[in-house]
Amino acid sequence: MVTATRKRGRPRAVREEPQPHFDEQLIANRELEAALETYVEHVEAAALANAAKRNIKAKLSANRRRSMIERGVVGTHTEKQWLQLKERHGYKCAKCGTPETSLDVRLDELHFAKLTKDHVLPISRGGGDNIENIQPLCRSCNSRKHAKFDEPIVCVSGGMDCLHVGHLDLFDSAARYGRLVVILNSDEFLIRKKGYRFMPWQDRARVILALNIVTAVTPVDDADGTVSEALRRVRPDYFCNGGDRTEPNEAEDAICRELDIHQLFNVGGGKTRSSSEIIGRLR
Ligand SMILES: [Zn+2]
Repeated sequence: MVTATRKRGRPRAVREEPQPHFDEQLIANRELEAALETYVEHVEAAALANAAKRNIKAKLSANRRRSMIERGVVGTHTEKQWLQLKERHGYKCAKCGTPETSLDVRLDELHFAKLTKDHVLPISRGGGDNIENIQPLCRSCNSRKHAKFDEPIVCVSGGMDCLHVGHLDLFDSAARYGRLVVILNSDEFLIRKKGYRFMPWQDRARVILALNIVTAVTPVDDADGTVSEALRRVRPDYFCNGGDRTEPNEAEDAICRELDIHQLFNVGGGKTRSSSEIIGRLR
């Protein structure tokens, strides 16, 4: 009996006292649960928004790339390279230094940082979509861009079939005058001049474009045997002739005088190698 009373008494005392504590715990648990639910909802919403943003960015990027290829633009870049470029510029406009954070634009809960991709040598003048030809600019600087750039444009020309250290010397020296744009002769030009073509134009362009020192590679209508067409289109500040050329080509000389393009001779020292020589050794 004694044990029974104790048993009956004890649980009652236990039940009455800790019950509010138990409820508190329950309430606390429910609050925690609710908080957790809200948190999960937030995380899910954020993940969805991020995915939407990524999708939109990926789509924009793919569309952009496709339109560039359709327009016959040489060279391409990845989103990663663009992000790295912005990082190198400290996420600021390359011209006026406006930070990207102050340029944010919000659109349907998605926000896009608004440093725009500016082509140093415009696409219209034969510039490519490779990262070396791109600089981050704020919209106002991009739209206010004049015909002349802050840094001069330097052109060199040739078939570069195949590329050798002599070309690299020429590029190195030419690039000291400004951004280097390579006018790359056509396959037809090479066949007319040497009787053969070693690498097709697209391949030669890609190899040259892979050099960090090169800003752009541009094709040229060289049916007349000169690069006059490209000089007229690109309108560089300088036109460098390689080490083996001391006499200006008459037609190119006339264009340079007309458009006020400075001609430089003997750039990159003497011709240390020649593509024909290299190919000749292989034959
Ligand atoms: Zn700016």
